[in-house]
Amino acid sequence: MSNTPVDITRLDASAEGFRERLDSMLAWEGVSDDAVVSIVTEVIREVRRRGDEALVEYSNRFDRLDVTDMEQLSIGADRFKQAYEGLPEGQREALRVAAQRIRDYHQRQLQESWQYRESDGTLLGQQVTAMDRVGIYVPGGKAAYPSSVLMNALPAKVAGVAEIIMVVPTPAGEVNELVLAAAYQSGVDRVFTIGGAQAVAALAYGTQSVPRVDKIVGPGNIYVATAKRMVFGQVGIDMIAGPSEILVVCDGQTNPDWIAMDLFSQAEHDEDAQSILVSTDEEFLDRVQASIEKLLPTMERAEIIRTSLESRGMLIKVCDREQALEVTNRIAPEHLELSVENPESWAREVRHAGAIFMGRYTAEALGDYCAGPNHVLPTSSTARFSSPLGVYDFQKRSSLIQFSAEGASEMGKVASVLARGEGLTAHARSAEYRIRK
Ligand code: NAD
Repeated sequence: MSNTPVDITRLDASAEGFRERLDSMLAWEGVSDDAVVSIVTEVIREVRRRGDEALVEYSNRFDRLDVTDMEQLSIGADRFKQAYEGLPEGQREALRVAAQRIRDYHQRQLQESWQYRESDGTLLGQQVTAMDRVGIYVPGGKAAYPSSVLMNALPAKVAGVAEIIMVVPTPAGEVNELVLAAAYQSGVDRVFTIGGAQAVAALAYGTQSVPRVDKIVGPGNIYVATAKRMVFGQVGIDMIAGPSEILVVCDGQTNPDWIAMDLFSQAEHDEDAQSILVSTDEEFLDRVQASIEKLLPTMERAEIIRTSLESRGMLIKVCDREQALEVTNRIAPEHLELSVENPESWAREVRHAGAIFMGRYTAEALGDYCAGPNHVLPTSSTARFSSPLGVYDFQKRSSLIQFSAEGASEMGKVASVLARGEGLTAHARSAEYRIRK
């Protein structure tokens, strides 16, 4: 392992050209890679055409398996229970506590139906219903993510989704017991051990064995993200997730080792992850840099962390709180840590962030597992227009409209004028029939 100094980009927010430099460091074009698009296009086409046969073939090829039919790629609910019961007590308890906290938090997101009546008796409202069947993609290529099972399945369960189908690749046939136990803990109905673009295609279009779902949620690598983008419209999609990110804003009063480790906690996800520190205190940036040098050799994933920090990491000096907030809102990070005095007052001025972790004790890592809020968050500055995964992603709204005779007569006149203005005679006459003579 290399022990040369970690070469992280240093920027000064007051320097000329800062915004352009920042924007170029933030740019992420992963999902438009032509080679990946062409592979994924073929995979989707073949799964649509040949169903299970293609799933078996691609799973053998991409996940280094040797199976002959879908029976070998599907796991029933009895097996999840067995996995749960076979876990060491400590893991079972951690899973249970995390699941309970996630459930409690998401319960508060449930939207209710509502309606109101106008004075002439006309009724208007909104009826909220859950989706029938959703598909959850749980990544499994390089690592297993039981926390992703909880974060994706529990909001669906809370929303009242009738059937949850989970897909998770098992490279070389290795099934992760904690992932299956998490499926049991969160009420997943069926699991298929398939992954990548082929799993997304199977959920979107259905095959002889895999039922077609109404929405696909969950993170994954570039093949998964590209496939999700391509099947959008055929099914609902939660979001197209890019690599993980963290932005720490620190006033220089937190232990620099804590901050270095918080930056590592996202950098260790993958080489393209992005960790950024913003501070008004230049000397503090130096102290964190020293902590990074000191702690990196102790990390299991040191090489991934180094690549991530050197290619996309940044230490940014700002002149004051106002500039720190301006930079924060421009970055619109997935995870924002406000490691400052009185973080609530800072948070009120944050307009774009997936999740805001307030205060020196609130490590982002707690949010990944057990704080309660969802860890599936908008990345790549999409927090400008989107939100964390939640119960509302699994609920739909139908408008309710019931006119009284009097209301139909009154509104019929309005509709008639507008319809005739648009040249739509059937619309106009349909409304006019109901106008009282
Ligand atoms: P994955 O399950 O997303 O991908 C594995 C699949 O990719 C394989 O089954 C295979 O079908 C396909 N694949 C691999 N190489 C291929 C190739 N050359 N051609 C065609 N298909 C190929 O697992 P992963 O690779 O470990 O990636 C998981 C990603 O999810 C990581 O980037 C991780 O950071 C991210 N993640 C995000 C969150 C979050 O909440 N944002 C949580 C967990 C994981």
